[in-house]
Parts: sequence; C-alpha cells; structure tokens
Amino acid sequence: MELLKIVEAYTQGMTAVQGALEGLKTAKDKLPEGKDKEAVVKKIEEVEHAILHAKAEMGATLGYVLCQCTWPAQVMVPVASSGESSRDLLKCPNCGKQLSRPHKTEAGTGGRKFDPYDVY
Ligand SMILES: [Zn+2]
Repeated sequence: MELLKIVEAYTQGMTAVQGALEGLKTAKDKLPEGKDKEAVVKKIEEVEHAILHAKAEMGATLGYVLCQCTWPAQVMVPVASSGESSRDLLKCPNCGKQLSRPHKTEAGTGGRKFDPYDVY
C-alpha cells in the first residue's frame, strides 16, 4: 500500500512537471532568437532528459523490463499478440523491439537483465 501511494505521488508530480514543461515550450517559441532563447531551449532539453531518466528509474524499481536502445532506457510495455496473452509479450515504445515477458520479478530488483538476443 505504501508503494502505491509513492507511485501515485510520483505520477501526479510527473504530470504537473510535464504540464509546466509544455507551458515553457510555448513561451520559448515567443522569445526572440538569441542567448536567452538558447539557454531556455537547453534547460527544457535537460528537464525532458531528467523526466525520461526518472521514468526509467521508476520502471526499473517497479520491476519493469527496460530496453536500452536509448539513454535513459525505455520502459517496455505489454502488447497483445496473436495466440498469446498480452501479458506474455513486451514491446519497446521507441524502437519496437519485442521480448517475452520474464518470469515474475519483485519490485526493487530491476527485472531481469536485458538480453539483446531474446528478440522475436
Ligand atoms: Zn527500444
């Protein structure tokens, strides 16, 4: 139950940060070209990278499998496939790589290690 509250707070925080970031992107477009705009663009990119890193860390903490096609890693999501339960197949939302779901892992273990040869 405690973990659920942590995940809920994390999700609410991330939603708020992403909303603020969208506002900054809109405001950034109205700035004149120059060093100030470049600094804002760089800061926005840093925040986007930090968000992706936090999502990957949270996914690993919760036992999700990560695809290492990017840095930070992508959290692989369950997908439906013909003849199999959607819980049996995971897909990377970035590169589309698919893996069979590992056997149950406990939160905090980071799931199984990435195996680049376990691809359908
Ligand atoms: Zn990937």
